[in-house]
Amino acid sequence: MATETTFGDDSSLGSRFERFKFAEDEQSKKKRIVFIDKVVLKDRVHYKDGYGYMRCLQPENCPACAAGMTSNERFGTKVLEYYTNMDGDVSKPFGYTVKAFVFGNGKGNGTYSILRSFYKSFGDKMYVRDFLVSCSNPKFQTLTFIPQDTCALKDLKVAKPEAFEEVKADYQKKVSEMDILKVVAPAVTADIMQKVVNGEIVRRSTKNAAPQGASAAPVAAQGQPSVPPVSSFAGGGGTSVSASAASVGAGKVDEARAVMEDIAGEL
Ligand SMILES: [Zn+2]
Repeated sequence: MATETTFGDDSSLGSRFERFKFAEDEQSKKKRIVFIDKVVLKDRVHYKDGYGYMRCLQPENCPACAAGMTSNERFGTKVLEYYTNMDGDVSKPFGYTVKAFVFGNGKGNGTYSILRSFYKSFGDKMYVRDFLVSCSNPKFQTLTFIPQDTCALKDLKVAKPEAFEEVKADYQKKVSEMDILKVVAPAVTADIMQKVVNGEIVRRSTKNAAPQGASAAPVAAQGQPSVPPVSSFAGGGGTSVSASAASVGAGKVDEARAVMEDIAGEL
């Protein structure tokens, strides 16, 4: 299904952070990013046209699975996107946005696999290297990544240590506010999911995000893991996790943000 590679709706997205994605009119633009988070959240989702993504409720009763709807893995991490020109050259003065990057893996050869292949080549050096990203099909966010030899964030640390410290502090604040799982796999109750499957609910409410968030609580109470599966680009999309990810699997996902320290350590 084509839905495996779409990014779905933004209705569950809070106003506090932006998504890294290409708009329809950005097909000729190159964006420049650095992966600043080694942790990749992973969950299984169902997709319903019009409504969007829903977290699969297995191992509890899942109405979407019961109805034979396929589920797919969906991933999320954080990137720092630089202010650039159309060619992806970093603007002066230095500027950036911390964004949520949410993606699938297509038929097993999608964005996750592409990024994993870079991890295989570069290891943790992947996180101290910029990537130029272009998009040949905004509708499906078909992305191409070109690794760079340089890292503008690293360069900033050398040239302007105080500015780097400001970026780091700002980054840490922003990531603590980001609940990426809400975008990767928006939680719905079995009751709501059943209505979506039945076609009784065709669109996610975007007006009352608070009640919707509240409705997620019973799902957790029914035994849904409160800590999402944690992966990394080293994880192969399976159940294995890297040492760094495994060490935070106990629930401190949002606190294990060592990448900025790694950049510092590289220098
Ligand atoms: Zn399911």
